[in-house]
Amino acid sequence: MPRPIEALIHTEALALNLRRARQAAPQSRVWAVVKADAYGHGIERAYAGLSGADGFALLDLDEAQRVRTLGWRGPILLLEGCFEPRDLELCSRLDLWHTVHHEAQIDMLAAHKTNVPHRVFLKMNSGMNRLGFRPSAYRGAWQRLSGLTQVDEITLMTHFADADGPGGVAAQMAAFEAATRELPGERSLSNSAATLRFAGAQGEGGLVAADWVRPGIMVYGSAPDYPAHDAAGWALQPAMTLRAKLIAVQSLQPGDRVGYGGAFTAEAPMRIGVVACGYADGYPRVAPTGTPVLVNGVRTRTVGRVSMDMITVDLTPVPEAALGAEVTLWGHGPNGSLLCIDEVARSAGTVGYELMCALARRVPVSVV
Ligand SMILES: *Cc1c(COP(=O)(O)O)cnc(C)c1O
Repeated sequence: MPRPIEALIHTEALALNLRRARQAAPQSRVWAVVKADAYGHGIERAYAGLSGADGFALLDLDEAQRVRTLGWRGPILLLEGCFEPRDLELCSRLDLWHTVHHEAQIDMLAAHKTNVPHRVFLKMNSGMNRLGFRPSAYRGAWQRLSGLTQVDEITLMTHFADADGPGGVAAQMAAFEAATRELPGERSLSNSAATLRFAGAQGEGGLVAADWVRPGIMVYGSAPDYPAHDAAGWALQPAMTLRAKLIAVQSLQPGDRVGYGGAFTAEAPMRIGVVACGYADGYPRVAPTGTPVLVNGVRTRTVGRVSMDMITVDLTPVPEAALGAEVTLWGHGPNGSLLCIDEVARSAGTVGYELMCALARRVPVSVV
């Protein structure tokens, strides 16, 4: 028998979350962001759930190739654009749209031989200072690009640094609007947080949503602004479940310690369960005692250190739990129970994004 751990990818949850993005930005087209192998879900596994998108946005050319192999004939956008001239060959061959965020990418395009001009997304650094042309250089880049025979339509693009936090989008919106006011072309600005928090709003809503939104994390069922909102608060459903079973049960006496370093000490008689999931499966090693977990759908907590292949959990709230009991590390549990990946991530001092991306290769995955 294989080791009792598995991940499930929920096709219906992906489709529902994608519809939520549409509802939040009803006038916009929707890129499903599937970089990092669909945030750890697997592009091939997520594809059925996300095939209602208007396009797929990603980073790696090999991922773009995989989306084409799945039969997708619609738009594909490279969010970081091309890294070297021969990438442009593949863009021509696979009909990929690509981001242009620095001058060298315009040089590469100018030297590229193609019969079919490329659709490009010209990125503005509106304040995040990662990728893009500064507002003062943006018009110049646009003019240079629009003079190239290799270039078809130019979409104006930026990315928000704090759409999920207190800063919001106002300052970057203002910078973007001021520098693009007289430029023609479609616009794309919003990630999940901006789409959920600002695109649906009155007034500026339409400007924030613009022609294309780029939701990533929300389509996988994690709340971008947790804990201000949780997934249920945004009506999102977890698209990934990580579950395992109890492979041992121990009865502890007061003073008994658990796991490496004896990091947990029982204060009273208690039962603990040993779960077939550890950091080599993608469970965060830094998750401390008290991290939430479900046993038979009942909420309890981890105790002691996470080791490579196992974690230990408090069975006090689930006295009937025995060998083989089902343990939900995140996602959907039995009888309609739920444990949001965001809660586990927060306990471990990280975000849902990192946990889903870190699901380890050794965990068998099925699509439901
Ligand atoms: C990853 C990414 C997104 C999606 O962000 P989420 O926070 O996951 O919604 C959108 N746009 C760009 C440019 C990205 O790199």
